[in-house]
Amino acid sequence: MKIPFLNLEPAHKLVKEEMAQAFESTYASNWFVMGNKLENFEAQYAAFNETKHAIGVSNGLDALVLSLLSLGIGPGDEVIVPSHTYIASVLAISYVGATPVFVEPDERTFNLNPANIGAAITSSTKAVMPVHMYGQACNMTAICKIARERDLYIVEDNAQAHGARYDGKITGSIGDMSGTSFYPGKNLGALGDGGMITTNSERWADQASMLRNYGSSVKYKHERIGYNMRLDELQAAFLSVKLKRLDLWTTQRRTIAEQYSNLLAEVGDLILPFTDPRSEHVFHLYVVRTQYREQLRDHLQMDGIQTLVHYPIPIHLQEAYAHLGHESGDFPIAEKIAECCLSLPLWPGMDKREVAEVATSVSRFFESVK
Ligand SMILES: *Cc1c(COP(=O)(O)O)cnc(C)c1O
Repeated sequence: MKIPFLNLEPAHKLVKEEMAQAFESTYASNWFVMGNKLENFEAQYAAFNETKHAIGVSNGLDALVLSLLSLGIGPGDEVIVPSHTYIASVLAISYVGATPVFVEPDERTFNLNPANIGAAITSSTKAVMPVHMYGQACNMTAICKIARERDLYIVEDNAQAHGARYDGKITGSIGDMSGTSFYPGKNLGALGDGGMITTNSERWADQASMLRNYGSSVKYKHERIGYNMRLDELQAAFLSVKLKRLDLWTTQRRTIAEQYSNLLAEVGDLILPFTDPRSEHVFHLYVVRTQYREQLRDHLQMDGIQTLVHYPIPIHLQEAYAHLGHESGDFPIAEKIAECCLSLPLWPGMDKREVAEVATSVSRFFESVK
């Protein structure tokens, strides 16, 4: 049995008819950009995410860029971002001309460690960007407290955590603004690129929705130098269909994660995902850690099991960020995670037997290294 890292087929099979109808209805409308499919999906997503406003945009990166721009963050400003994240979080900060300032994560949760934020704050710090890594909410209670005390904005990167919660609050609704992604492999994925900004502020929502559409809220009147960063009707229609199943798919993800955690407990030197009891994890990814990462990957590959590494090179060591002048050893926790993390196959509808087969192959590997 070959086991891919991700298989969208079971989820897509379930909604095939409705997706075809979404296409038919959009096609028949002859209206493809900024119409009622987008408006409907924005209202549905705002309800799901428990926010007053949701603004559909082109992708997750653009959602973060427009969030920062809406808050007026730009050149000369610093934004605190975790040293362990996907590069898009950091790129968004660079795009608006601000400077990313890295802060180490909590080794147990992979998430921005609130205890490390204070030391990174300077007179130029304008915002902090918590990233809910792998589907687990950051400690937003602590992060909000620091942001309030130090007068910083919070821009959540919720690209991996649709529906996650911390202390009962849903991610994407806790900070001042939030950006999420509907990249096909995300927990809620379009059939192409897509993203969403969420906020409870009418003023910032207006800014974001004006900026995504050429800086215009009244046709041919342009208030700011804006962008073309819109979510199109077809993707919005597809996403409306899939959003209705998101809770079911999240439940399935959690069941698979639990099965892995039971089968892999006490196996080799594996460190399994740690769940902060105050957080409700949506398991975008199931990430284990081992000092034998490369050997384990090779072993699984030989058994026909595909794995991925999220992410092999920390941002501060990427060529694109050489100008920040960081070197190896500057962020040891992020560097250690990059060296030993491994994401196991996981998708909604993954069969119990497939999960067991992955776990068996992992266990067999550790039998051989003993
Ligand atoms: C996927 C992702 C993004 C970017 O989303 P795109 O839609 O691919 O632009 C941003 N941040 C994180 C943490 C992500 O995982």
